[in-house]
Amino acid sequence: MQGCPFCRVAEGTAPARLVFADDEIVAFHDIAPRAPVHVLVIPRRHIVSLAHASPGDRDLLGRLLAAAAEAARQTGVAATGYRVVANSGAEGGQTVSHFHLHVLGGRPMSWPPG
Ligand code: 5GP
Ligand code: ZN
Repeated sequence: MQGCPFCRVAEGTAPARLVFADDEIVAFHDIAPRAPVHVLVIPRRHIVSLAHASPGDRDLLGRLLAAAAEAARQTGVAATGYRVVANSGAEGGQTVSHFHLHVLGGRPMSWPPG
């Protein structure tokens, strides 16, 4: 989608520090990390948010979650623990309107999130 920063990362027209990528998913380091490890996992296809995912996206959503676990393994936080977050919509704190999972690790997480 034109003007979407994560579509540009997926297309390779914007730089990103990749963790891994395949034909439908890209995992890359957040530009402003909120933890020692902060990876974003996105579908290449532009889905606005979790609220915009359709029943036909269920398998993809499962693969995105599995990709988040793989990103945690590849960045070395799987053993110590990590958090996976999907902010959805304005009150969910979403600022980029292309669905993404945050994978945060490398420090203790508090609860509840702000
Ligand atoms: P949200 O607030 O939508 O849940 O998360 C968006 C995240 O994307 C933020 O953590 C922000 O730092 C990150 N971000 C925004 N633009 C870019 C970008 O162009 N490249 C990368 N790598 N991260 C970005
Ligand atoms: Zn997009």
